[in-house]
Formats: sequence, structure tokens, C-alpha cells
Amino acid sequence: MNCYAWFEKAYCTLQKAADQQRLAHGLLIAAPYGSGKLDFAYYLAKSLLCEKHPDRLTSPCCECKSCLLIDAETHPDFYFIDTLVDSKGKKKQSIGVDQIRMLNDSLLETAQLGGWRIAVISSVTAMTTSSFNSLLKTLEEPKSRTMIILLTDSAAKVPATIKSRCQMVIPDLNNGLVKPWLKVQTSASDKVIDDALVYSDNSPIRAMKAIQDNELEEVRTFHESLDYLLKNKRTPQEVLDDTDLENEQVWNWLASYFYQINFGTASAGKPVEQYKHLDMKHTFKLYDKVLAYQKARFSGSNLQSKLQFQAILIQWFEIGRKIIHISNS
Ligand SMILES: [Zn+2]
Repeated sequence: MNCYAWFEKAYCTLQKAADQQRLAHGLLIAAPYGSGKLDFAYYLAKSLLCEKHPDRLTSPCCECKSCLLIDAETHPDFYFIDTLVDSKGKKKQSIGVDQIRMLNDSLLETAQLGGWRIAVISSVTAMTTSSFNSLLKTLEEPKSRTMIILLTDSAAKVPATIKSRCQMVIPDLNNGLVKPWLKVQTSASDKVIDDALVYSDNSPIRAMKAIQDNELEEVRTFHESLDYLLKNKRTPQEVLDDTDLENEQVWNWLASYFYQINFGTASAGKPVEQYKHLDMKHTFKLYDKVLAYQKARFSGSNLQSKLQFQAILIQWFEIGRKIIHISNS
């Protein structure tokens, strides 16, 4: 387990804080989906719990008892809080207050291995209001050598009361760091790497997977079919028939299509004349819809998925129809 290049700067800052014994008890890692923030949280925990250099934040030795226990996910002083799975095997949508109460109790106990106690909370946005309130108490009066690491895709979604009690950790996702890493991981050409970064909203791990799984060609074809839909050269039903909704990536592809239009990063395919006439209010609304559905899809049925997908295709077709109508009149 290594520290990704784009987290190194943040890691150094935390190292200095640890050396001066002023490491925050709450860390908020705000980084987009697919940037390796969970891996980084594990790396931090492993570094801090490593028995070779207690209380210092140095690369974990990977040999001591603590390091081995982290790798086996059985460390008694490390807690990972994620959404639970219900009786039907589906992931729940939220992290409940009971989970946080249990965590609070555990963090009050003495560390079994005598070092730090560290909790990682997988998604701040999945927490309910009562979960937040329950966690606040622990963040306000933390015991010594206790750390809570919170993860989020976007700091804007985190309540101010939580933010003000945490130190922010933000990766440096500039291309100078990300591109050389992708080159080593995939040996892909610069053009392929650029396309993958556009498709993945600059998230390195997502970009790597897209290259390794040959996903880019599929994405391009899918995005093209949405362009045809906007031009009214294909119907929503035709696009629906050609789309494999069993493929979980489809919703990500849909999100990246609207993201690229909204934020003007559409360079993977040819820019479409119709984009210029789009009312951004509508495209942002569609993008929000896709994101909201992605968030809720854990509990959604296949039928729901199909209906939602179809509704978005129809709206996109209708937006295109109006553009054509205006240009012709
Ligand atoms: Zn170690």
C-alpha cells in the first residue's frame, strides 16, 4: 500500500502536525469519486498505528503486528463505518445513528494495542442528521490519541458544524502528478490518457480502470448516441434498446456526459453544434437527476432503473427537438 502521488502533499502536512503533536482529531478527506480517498484513509491509519514508530506519521513498516492486523481488517482499534447491508443483501442508503453511537462507545474504551484508535467513516453524505449530531459530541470532546477520518466526494455537501471541527484533506489532482502515474500504470498513449481523464472527471483511479477495461470506446459510442438523440436522429426507444442497463457503469457514463457538457470539458467526442443552443439550466437539472438516481440506486429495482433512464432520454430528445424548432423558425 503506497501513498498516491496526489495525496503526498497532504500527507506531508499531516506528518508535520504529528511531529509537533498537534494532529487533528477529525480529518475530512474531500476528493472526487475514484481518486483513492479510502485507500489514503487506510494508509493514514496504518501509518499512525504502526508499532515501529508510535505517534509518528511515517510509512508503515508492513511487518509489525499492527500493520498485519490492518491488512487483515481485524485491527481491534480500527473501525470502518459503512452503510450496512439489509436482509435482502442490498446496501442501505444511510449510516444510521445506532452505528455512530456504537462507534462513540468504542472510541471511549482504552486502545487494545495501547496506541491510537482510528475510525474511518466511508461517506459523510450517507449520514443522517441524528448520526451527525451523535458524532458531533465525539468530535467536540475527543479523547487523546483518537482520530475520526470522514470521507466525502464534495466538501460542499458536509454540514458546517462538522467541517469546523475537522482538518480538511484535499488531494492535488493536477495533471502533472496524475498523468505520469497513469502512464506507469497503463502504458497508454497520451491521447488515451487525456480522453480517460475527461471521461472520469479527472479521477485517476477511475481513469485507470477505464483504460484497463477498454471502457473508453464503449463510453464514446454511448455518448455519441446521446448526441444523436439531441439531434433527433435517434429516438429514446432506440437508445434504450441499445443500452445494457445491467452494466452498472452506464449511469456513470450518463453522468460524465452531462458533466462534460455542463463544465465544458467535452473533448473526448466531437463538440456538437446543438450544445451552443442549450439552456444550461436544463442540462444542470438533468445532471442533478442522474446524480440523485446514482445515490439512490442501491435500493432501486431494475424496472425503476429502466424508467428513470428512459425519462432522462426522453427529456434529452425533447430539449433537442426545441432547439431544432427554434433554429428552423
Ligand atoms: Zn508496522
